[in-house]
Amino acid sequence: MNPKKNKVAIVGAGSVGATIAYNLVVRGLVNEIVLIDVNRDKAEAESQDILQGMPLGKSVSVYASDYDGCADAEIVILTAGAKQKPGETRVELLDRNVSITRSIVGSILASGFAGILLVVTNPVDILTHLAWKLSGFPENRVFGSGTVLDTARLRSFLATRCEVSPQNIHGYVIGEHGNTSFPAWSTVTVGGVPIKQYLAMRNDLAPELHERLREEAKIYVREAAYAIIKGKGSTFYAIAQAVGTIVESILRDERRILPVSTVRRNFNGIPETAFSYPAVIGSNGVVHQLEYRLNDEEERELSESVDFITANIGKVALTLND
Ligand code: NAD
Repeated sequence: MNPKKNKVAIVGAGSVGATIAYNLVVRGLVNEIVLIDVNRDKAEAESQDILQGMPLGKSVSVYASDYDGCADAEIVILTAGAKQKPGETRVELLDRNVSITRSIVGSILASGFAGILLVVTNPVDILTHLAWKLSGFPENRVFGSGTVLDTARLRSFLATRCEVSPQNIHGYVIGEHGNTSFPAWSTVTVGGVPIKQYLAMRNDLAPELHERLREEAKIYVREAAYAIIKGKGSTFYAIAQAVGTIVESILRDERRILPVSTVRRNFNGIPETAFSYPAVIGSNGVVHQLEYRLNDEEERELSESVDFITANIGKVALTLND
């Protein structure tokens, strides 16, 4: 693999895949993007649409391909599969997306690909575990976008409520990218000040705001996708920005700390599972995981979230020998 190639393959040229491709072009991050889709016409059309803007922006080679296009990519991003219908949970997509992911991972491996596999298709934690299992790659090279999007949603929500820039809010949503995710409130800071302390300092804000905010933030993050899907059918801009950030951290070895979904061994006595927790992301993928001193309530929430994912991984494992 040539680390200077800056080539990314995206499997699934739907709303999410095509918007990720566009995001990578606008960032000026990659030299080559391959779009692969069972609907070849869609992949061709999305490539053409992006290419036609090139004279007015960054020049990147963007084209539709079959799986051979993955062979020399540094990163392959999986976005193919069914998406949520209004009101449907991510985990309800499992049956439909397991077989799609299985066949796609097989085709990617057959191309000789030996880079980083980044899973976006939902339910992302379970499919990350599946892709890892099928690929035989080490844990650092197969991971999911996890709660990077949920964390961005948390930061944008809190920025509005605290009346500061979202860039100055830090903190992480962890666990499942789904209904059991939660903000690890003890990690949340505003300009480096723990959020409780920050709100206490602000005499112009309601004194009871802190008590309300944690619960409101959790609900906001959990409900965000449902609200958007109800309004416009799918979510794609913020996830594309999240994936663009992950790809940038890999290709530029930026070592950003991002809550991607990774396969963990022996967490809480579970031999293998996958969930989101902040990790340093660099050119080899996951460089290392951070460790936080979560409070008892956060530990309990994380445990419940991981148990939920693990139970669903177990259901997939039962079908693996079919
Ligand atoms: P979409 O329907 O617009 O696109 C899906 C694409 O996958 C289609 O173009 C389809 O032809 C293609 N496809 C289906 N089966 C295929 C196969 N076997 N091989 C190759 N291509 C195949 O859906 P979307 O809105 O782009 O969403 C894609 C996925 O991303 C969904 O599972 C959705 O839930 C997920 N998603 C994840 C996050 C996240 O944070 N992880 C955020 C948003 C969406």
